[in-house]
Amino acid sequence: MRTFTNLKILIRRAALSLFAFMLAFSSLPASASEEEPLTGTAFFLDTVTTLTIYGSTDETLLTRCWDLLDEYENLFSRSIEGSDVWNINHSEGKPTTVSDETAFLIETSLTYSELSDGAFDITITPIVDLWDVLNNPGIIPTDDEIDAALAHVGYEAITVDNNTVTLSDPEAQIDLGGIAKGYIADALAEFLKSEGIQSALINLGGDVQAIGKKPDGSDWNVGVLRPFGEVSDIIAVVQCDGDSLVTSGTYERYFEVDGKIYHHIMDPQSGRPTDNNLTSVSILSSSSMLGDTLSTTCFVLGLEEGMKLIESLDGFEALFITEDEAIFRSSGFPED
Ligand code: ADP
Ligand code: MG
Repeated sequence: MRTFTNLKILIRRAALSLFAFMLAFSSLPASASEEEPLTGTAFFLDTVTTLTIYGSTDETLLTRCWDLLDEYENLFSRSIEGSDVWNINHSEGKPTTVSDETAFLIETSLTYSELSDGAFDITITPIVDLWDVLNNPGIIPTDDEIDAALAHVGYEAITVDNNTVTLSDPEAQIDLGGIAKGYIADALAEFLKSEGIQSALINLGGDVQAIGKKPDGSDWNVGVLRPFGEVSDIIAVVQCDGDSLVTSGTYERYFEVDGKIYHHIMDPQSGRPTDNNLTSVSILSSSSMLGDTLSTTCFVLGLEEGMKLIESLDGFEALFITEDEAIFRSSGFPED
């Protein structure tokens, strides 16, 4: 039985964005001297983006951010004909020339595929399409269907040579859904900083990138949501000063059959939604792009292997939540 419609999920994601925004401001002192931020919301790459910018009244900052989002969507979207990703996926094994940004994202993805022994794999596309979690009316693919799709999954098929990308398997396809949003958040932050902004919050569907601190000099409070909880149900609060907090969770996009959740973070080994007792992984770091990649990677790796990976990397901390709502923090992840 299908319990969530597309629309409901979108509304929920919009509400999540809005809530993270409200939380960030809830602890501001109610002093009369506070300036009003520039704020705006837009919908790109299936994600609600909210910007909150302090220290400027220049409304064109917002429109220029939307232009940037538009530009990136036109490079990274799988469904926009003529995007870099669309061109690669329709190249039938022939070399494709792509932008610097796309080549960089694919190269970064490959680094994390190697680091995680294939847990992160942008060639997961045939499996993503087979499950079609957002539109699935409750149909579980058969083993044969999964095996047929898995035959075209494997990051080893990708070669990047400067701006040329080649897929050695003509039926392979890539999907940057596990990394692109983070890259875009970083790019928006870079743009705003280059315009002199020192205090802002960029929220892409609940993934947050802070610029500096709040205007009153205190840290931003960013919430980690209780998986499957109410929109306002926060399980942990993280103080952010220019940091990024990115979460991958089963509750974000899923359908349900006979009480079992089938979500959007796929295990490239099984060809099925990752089933390892985790409901969410949040990564705290200075890079939204790597936080995005690592939240998906650690989710697929599971608590033990994911934690090991995080502890082996400098500058990344993680908070894992299991199905019974136990919370596991890496050694440097701040306590509430
Ligand atoms: P969200 O987009 O909800 O923030 P994630 O960052 O966890 O979620 O990324 C999930 C998306 O990444 C999926 O929707 C799909 O496009 C892609 N994906 C799913 N499984 C994998 C995987 N094992 N490796 C790389 N990308 C994946
Ligand atoms: Mg991700």
